[in-house]
Amino acid sequence: MAILISGKTCPKCKGMDRQRIRRSFWMRFLPGSKYYICEHCNAKFLSIFELYSFYWPFGAVA
Ligand SMILES: [Zn+2]
Repeated sequence: MAILISGKTCPKCKGMDRQRIRRSFWMRFLPGSKYYICEHCNAKFLSIFELYSFYWPFGAVA
């Protein structure tokens, strides 16, 4: 199940340390999106305008 939270923290562990990584092709169509990996739990999540973080626990999508 995907998790959507408000804020910039990792949706999985609420960690603040994250590293920006390359987005997948389809993510470029989402305005204001940035793709991060959490340095604590390695969860990949998509930040939208730095307001929301979207996380899906099934590995990379597309
Ligand atoms: Zn994390």
